Amino acid sequence: MEYLTGISAQRGDLLRKELNIFCFKDLLEHYPIRHIDKTKIDKIKSLAHDTEYTQVAGVLTDMEVIGEKQGRRLVAHLKDDTGVIELVWFQGISWVQKILVPGQQYLVFGKLGFFIGRPQISHPEIENYTPQKASGKAYLEPIYPTTEKLKAKWLNGRAMGKFTFELLQKLTEKDLPENLPEPVVRKYKLIKRYDAFRHIHFPASAQHYQHALRRLKFEEFFLAQLRIQLIRLNRQRFSKGLVFEKVGSLFNDFYKNHLPFELTNAQKNVLKEIRKDIGSGHQMNRLLQGDVGSGKTMVALLTMLIAADNGFQSVLMAPTEILAQQHFNSISELLDGLPVTVSLLTGSTSAKNRKPVLKACEDGSLNILIGTHAIIEDKVVFKNLGLAVVDEQHKFGVAQRAMLWKKNTIPPHILVMTATPIPRTLALTAYGDLDYSVIDELPPGRKPITTVHRSETARPQVMDFIKEQISLGRQAYIIYPLIEESDKLDYENLMKGFEEVKSFFPEPKYWISMVHGKQPPEQKETNMQRFVQGDTQILVGTTVIEVGVNVPNASVMLIESAEKFGLSQLHQLRGRVGRGAEQSFCVLLTGYKLSNDARERLKIMVASNDGFKIAEKDLEIRGPGEMEGTRQSGVLNFKLASIVHDKTMLEAARAAAEHIIATDPELESSENLPLKAFLQQQKGKTLWSKIA
Ligand code: ADP
Ligand code: MG
Repeated sequence: MEYLTGISAQRGDLLRKELNIFCFKDLLEHYPIRHIDKTKIDKIKSLAHDTEYTQVAGVLTDMEVIGEKQGRRLVAHLKDDTGVIELVWFQGISWVQKILVPGQQYLVFGKLGFFIGRPQISHPEIENYTPQKASGKAYLEPIYPTTEKLKAKWLNGRAMGKFTFELLQKLTEKDLPENLPEPVVRKYKLIKRYDAFRHIHFPASAQHYQHALRRLKFEEFFLAQLRIQLIRLNRQRFSKGLVFEKVGSLFNDFYKNHLPFELTNAQKNVLKEIRKDIGSGHQMNRLLQGDVGSGKTMVALLTMLIAADNGFQSVLMAPTEILAQQHFNSISELLDGLPVTVSLLTGSTSAKNRKPVLKACEDGSLNILIGTHAIIEDKVVFKNLGLAVVDEQHKFGVAQRAMLWKKNTIPPHILVMTATPIPRTLALTAYGDLDYSVIDELPPGRKPITTVHRSETARPQVMDFIKEQISLGRQAYIIYPLIEESDKLDYENLMKGFEEVKSFFPEPKYWISMVHGKQPPEQKETNMQRFVQGDTQILVGTTVIEVGVNVPNASVMLIESAEKFGLSQLHQLRGRVGRGAEQSFCVLLTGYKLSNDARERLKIMVASNDGFKIAEKDLEIRGPGEMEGTRQSGVLNFKLASIVHDKTMLEAARAAAEHIIATDPELESSENLPLKAFLQQQKGKTLWSKIA
């Protein structure tokens, strides 16, 4: 690294620390944020309020430090033949003072602002200026992302380009050989890899830049897709799986005599996909997506019955105690009268109750264990675990799920169910190595939930509305934000809210239960149960009730400070109502002042009941890095490509990768050899790993 001109050991060190640039490849992949046409110099007089960035040239007329303490700043003026622009620095004042000389000509670039109607640039990039003879040819100069520390060492957004330029001069086409198979390059009309690296940094024209960008984005998507599909293929080919060959009497008896409803077609299809997996002799690793209320649990239960029919044990792992308890209750009820044993194990199971459960797991007498992450602890040993169902997948870490694998010599089949849908592009990238099923249909007879957004002033009317619903025999949820269970302020708001709700709904006419994460589990459970049984009409709570809770008689979901919730969380919460025969309502209560993002989220919630649409919007608003479950995975760190903006390209790259894996999985044909060589060279750096 250091052997590029101008990169001293000290600067090399800074590049590593500040930008993670360790080697030439990192420098090459440190792409410009934009290019500016260096020959294009704006006239100061012509600068308008809608100009975002500007480049001006002229004489530095004066320079002075003004203000004190926080307000201390260096102010200079630059004059061209049409006007004057102000330049301001709040930091690094002394070195700027050392470098700039009034009376000299400078070329200045930066983000344009206006201060009392006068144009201004703060912390501009500045360099000496010698008016060039106009060559008539545009020169697009790259501007790179940089940091304050680097700027202080003269490694500003422009200087970085000098290194890249020098590096590119030294590299030949042999150093950056084509890595994509020739037919792919041809089919998708991609420019050569070597050319792409040159033009992404120093394009001869805007069009050259676009071609380079397209090629490199495609490469990012393609290589990522190829890697995950190879992982998937290897799993399918080499991982040994338990074989559940028959559908036996438990399944059949339940299906014929105990199933309380007809399965939807979507449920039937998913069940078929699962049956194919578990009979194949390879381990199933399936992600099951479906909207809130689409009936994922029933699919899981039926699969667990097939496991039992084949002599295997199953676990169903839920993210919260309440949900585990609820699964246990409803599944026990459904299986009543059938020769299947079901137990519950959570963190709050007493030592006394725990013992027989652990024993039954170990001696194989237990068929189905339902619980929280308590069931993956080492103490829980199974005789022959054949299936692990993970409900509401995003609450579990990758590492926790990996522990499930070790519960049997041949790893159990894994079925992961999401809380709300995941956008397709995200599923293809973050979970692309899993097989993937979708329940895209709700059970018949569901009435769409009416969602409204109300502000604080409408609170009395909202409360009256809840009274009206209660008088019709229904129940209501009132949810407060308590995103982090440790957040003190949120906790106080919840308590205040509870008191306020009590004043609107006085005992003994109304009964209210409250659940939140700070309660001991038994208390949480008792309070929850009172609501489930209809002893209380109102449940005041936090998002601990978010996942899975099922009370068909509840018809109102009131969400306090709804602006503080993310879209998928709002949709999850809303999914707690609309489970019975009655029309249900979701009220999003907020203050008046809302950020644009929050306003957008609320608008989407009011407009749509469709979890798949909402997930897409969520991804657009928040970006992939913020989506649940992907935060630590590092699999979405594309440098150029975006799963939000380049959807079509992702599909194309995926198709290309699929085709190669289908026709030449070992990458042995001559056209795929360069690709194979490239992948081998990259090995060890891969961030992909088994997700479940
Ligand atoms: P989710 O997919 O959100 O986990 P659940 O599995 O909790 O949804 O199912 C929601 C409700 O729908 C439950 O009360 C369940 O019994 C019911 N249900 C599931 N499948 C059907 C079906 N095919 N027809 C009618 N009701 C169904
Ligand atoms: Mg569920």
